[in-house]
Amino acid sequence: MVAPARYSSNTARNGILRAALFDAWDRRCYFCRRWFDVAVMEIDHLLPRYLRFDSQRLDELLGECLPPELVALGFDIDAPHNLAPICRGCNSDKSDRSFAGSMRFTRLLQTARDLEPRVTKLFHAFEDRHALAKALATVAVAELNDPRAKETMTEFGALMVNRLRIIAPEILETPSDYPYSDPYRDELQRIVVTLDETGRRARVILEDVYGCDFDEALRYPIRSIVAAINARLISSMSRHLFDGGETAPDIADPSGRVAVEVTELVYESAEEFRASGRFEADGSSDAAIHANTDSGTAWVQVDAEAVGTFSLYFAPDDDSVDPGSVHIVVSNEDAWCDDPGWKEESYFALTQLDEADDELSD
Ligand SMILES: [Zn+2]
Repeated sequence: MVAPARYSSNTARNGILRAALFDAWDRRCYFCRRWFDVAVMEIDHLLPRYLRFDSQRLDELLGECLPPELVALGFDIDAPHNLAPICRGCNSDKSDRSFAGSMRFTRLLQTARDLEPRVTKLFHAFEDRHALAKALATVAVAELNDPRAKETMTEFGALMVNRLRIIAPEILETPSDYPYSDPYRDELQRIVVTLDETGRRARVILEDVYGCDFDEALRYPIRSIVAAINARLISSMSRHLFDGGETAPDIADPSGRVAVEVTELVYESAEEFRASGRFEADGSSDAAIHANTDSGTAWVQVDAEAVGTFSLYFAPDDDSVDPGSVHIVVSNEDAWCDDPGWKEESYFALTQLDEADDELSD
């Protein structure tokens, strides 16, 4: 009988579960969405673990957070449908800040449920009784604080690389990360630049032919990408408020997390380069809605998130790129307003009455 993929008191099995969760959740912290090394990830219980002793409260929370068809599937606090990988920083930040009851939380539980089959499959693959699979799983989640462990891994790593060169060379041709740095970057932005063969060639052209500093050459294109993503979040928020009856919301620039991964950099021709890749972003904005207050305006907080791909062309000597020239394709987006003030009677029912009055008096 194969043991289920489940959080338990068994450290070795939790290590394997951690690697499986990490891979299924796209190798990043679900909270800040940054990419990390599995060795610094922890397993987070979306609904806290103490609830397994308080089934009444657990049922209440599930009723609030999940649609009835998911509640009907049953819930196990320690199963992958309640687990997600989190980085240490976020885990210590988040402990008291449960966002149970919010839309985002509902979506997270839904994502965990969707990923559960993949987590389970990976868990069983990693947990294979084969001694080699076990040894590799140990290496995959190993912490390398111990200098001897690091030394061992470096030495055996070289041996492994040689074996892989013969049995699976495609693994070694995978693109490598470039340590892009922008000292003026917003700390909530996570920018990853990955270069494959074409990207490495484009870098050489930028540096050797155009004499650019590579980080500087990327700075303006990346800023434009972030600006275009934020504009997309704002238009999504604006649509949400519009659908709720607010025709002219005034929305401030969102603050939130933006993860941009440049996966392709190509020297096209005619002094033009093309950068493309994928992004994930979420943000909160203050929106002025024209409600029935003395000042005529009220503020609510509105949220949006978007996932998709981008591409843009840039010239090596550009010191500004128009965000409008960034081509964005969104695969998933959502906007919501959890602000209790939104759509309260005092806002909309009365606002609409006021407007009717205004029209009469005009
Ligand atoms: Zn994090």
